[in-house]
Amino acid sequence: MTAILMKGKAVADVIKAELIERIRTDLGGFAPTLVAVIPAGESESDYYLRSLVKSATECGINLLQKVLPSDATANDYRFVVGSSGMEQSIHGILVMRPLPSSVDTDAVTAVIPPEKDVDGVTAGNMAALYLEKPRLVPATAVAIMSLLDHHNVALQGTRAAVVGRSRTVGKPAALMLLSHHATVTICHSRTLDLASVLAPCDVVVVAAGVAGFIKPGMIKPGAVVVDAGFNVLPDGAVMGDTDPAVEEVASLYAPVPGGVGPLTVVCLLKNLVEAAIQQTKG
Ligand code: NAP
Repeated sequence: MTAILMKGKAVADVIKAELIERIRTDLGGFAPTLVAVIPAGESESDYYLRSLVKSATECGINLLQKVLPSDATANDYRFVVGSSGMEQSIHGILVMRPLPSSVDTDAVTAVIPPEKDVDGVTAGNMAALYLEKPRLVPATAVAIMSLLDHHNVALQGTRAAVVGRSRTVGKPAALMLLSHHATVTICHSRTLDLASVLAPCDVVVVAAGVAGFIKPGMIKPGAVVVDAGFNVLPDGAVMGDTDPAVEEVASLYAPVPGGVGPLTVVCLLKNLVEAAIQQTKG
């Protein structure tokens, strides 16, 4: 079997067209503004940032980049985030992760106003997802679900596994699969015998940050596999968490590059436009 590839760009183009239309109609052509708070020299975020700049420009969204020096403290981050939060002209705040290890990420996240939390990382927005009343949901999880939805994957009754339990990808993806009535297993670095956990799964979502470690033999033939991993190899090439040969056993496969990645920034911008609409109503 060779899988049908789930390409993020096709879905991203549809969403971008919707955003342009919503800015025209729901915001009266008024361009919403996103602030990206960026730790200096964070090369892992570079790809994401380039893609964000491109998509924001295409949609007519203002993107303000606030780069903090490598010796910035948690208080410096809190000041920038807090003051952006008070600006009426700013509709969304994205704090690019990872922050330097000396900075307490939770302390910085705590000062993002929930209504401007376009990456869904504040406690209030996480709780809303947990309580099945989602507001602003982490963009990568939304991108994963959008790909499945676009390809009409019927999740109800399926056995699904999510490899990775981070707050921003694994856990929200698992909660969203659960809300679509899949039976969900969450795997992590201490899961024993991952292969046997994945073997019966109809849907496998991977977000572990370990290049190529999910092998074709670990996947049930015909399963749907979404790779959200993004690993930059020493030669600069990008690889997901699955071995690309997974394409030979899956029925649908979101590869890296080209699957979840191109969609994530657009889902973040969708959150921004939604946030701006709510703020201008209020
Ligand atoms: P993270 O916070 O480092 O979490 C990684 C998770 O994977 C942890 O829960 C960890 O388990 C688990 N894990 C690590 N090694 C494992 C193994 N050998 N077997 C099973 N589980 C393992 O990373 P993240 O922020 O969730 O990101 C995960 C991946 O998604 C990365 O490659 C990242 O670059 C990518 N990502 C992509 C996008 C996108 O737009 N496509 C956006 C965000 C992130 P423990 O909890 O036990 O440590």
